[in-house]
Amino acid sequence: MRVVVIGAGVIGLSTALCIHERYRSVLQSLEVMVYADCFTPLTTTDVAAGLWQPYLSEPSNPQEANWNQQTFNYLLSLIGSPNTANMGLALVSGYNLFREAVPDPYWKDIVLGFRKLTVRELDMFPDYSYGWFNTSLILEGRKYLQWLTERLTERGVKFFLRKVESFEEVAREGADVIINCTGVWAGALQPDPLLQPGRGQIIKVDAPWLKHFIITHDPERGIYKSPYIIPGLQATTLGGIFQLGNWSETNNIPDHNTIWEGCCRLEPTLKDAKIIGEWSGFRPVRPQVRLEREQLCFGSSNTEVIHNYGHGGFGLTIHWGCAQEVAKLFGKILEERNLLRIPPSHL
Ligand SMILES: Cc1cc2nc3c(=O)[nH]c(=O)nc-3n(C[C@H](O)[C@H](O)[C@H](O)COP(=O)(O)OP(=O)(O)OC[C@H]3O[C@@H](n4cnc5c(N)ncnc54)[C@H](O)[C@@H]3O)c2cc1C
Repeated sequence: MRVVVIGAGVIGLSTALCIHERYRSVLQSLEVMVYADCFTPLTTTDVAAGLWQPYLSEPSNPQEANWNQQTFNYLLSLIGSPNTANMGLALVSGYNLFREAVPDPYWKDIVLGFRKLTVRELDMFPDYSYGWFNTSLILEGRKYLQWLTERLTERGVKFFLRKVESFEEVAREGADVIINCTGVWAGALQPDPLLQPGRGQIIKVDAPWLKHFIITHDPERGIYKSPYIIPGLQATTLGGIFQLGNWSETNNIPDHNTIWEGCCRLEPTLKDAKIIGEWSGFRPVRPQVRLEREQLCFGSSNTEVIHNYGHGGFGLTIHWGCAQEVAKLFGKILEERNLLRIPPSHL
């Protein structure tokens, strides 16, 4: 059973790990390979701040809310374990700010200690009149990808730096199952008019005195189009750019100024912070995550493809729930092919 995962961002690597962890002991012939034309530190995942926070509105596919919750619970269960620091994982608390009252988000009972801001707290943010405080998690993309790569390497998973031109090419080389985790580039392998880039640009600064995330919202303009400040384990991420349909990979000065001025207005002490770097990346925006099986026929052979892409601005927030769902679909393929060995009884 040869499984090829295309993509080495958070979605590809976590899916590869989940499948290997779940099935290697019951399927000796399981061989997992990862193909990607970019590895860390060059993926979109490396650009992300890594805050666990879904969008404010409920997803149109209710399964996505479950996958978000499963991811939060999984990560929370690892807090305090020897892995936490190496994974780039930590608890983080902070503010979501609004200019008028809004309904509570559907994830208020998933995060810890969700509550509305008090008048005294709001006094710290003169441009805002309403908000929430809660504790969530940070999972730094770059650190997490390194950790996942180490876990996969230990398990014997092989990595190949290559651009895949078609599913057919991979199928003809002998893959039984292809897992498509190509993020915003999935449309190059199979047209998908629902998938679009949501370009972001971020500035990383050294500001160790900032301990809380501050995310502002302007519901009329849309998600992540107003300033946000997210402290990570080493650096703090400043952002507030979300441009649908923009494929420009280069950082630009107007966006830099928008981020810098917006964040300094929100947190004036940032003016003294040293800029460490600046990056742009494309959120794989889609009305719903595409997570489904598809059978493709090339010549006489049937190849199974499991798609797992389109995680927008919440890939780290949802990844583990999605990886588990893919593992479940993969298990069904094994069952259909009578490949699952019943584990020995312990009675
Ligand atoms: C500025 C910004 C901030 C963000 N902040 C957060 C945040 O705080 N929290 C959060 O949860 N999410 C955040 N996100 C979203 C998150 O980064 C994405 O949802 C996530 O990284 C998507 O992961 P992925 O693995 O699908 O894609 P990627 O990380 O882009 O990985 C795609 C992989 O597929 C490979 N690939 C694609 N096509 C091919 C091909 N044909 N052949 C070979 N390889 C191929 C690429 O080389 C790459 O390895 C942010 C995104 C941006 C841009």
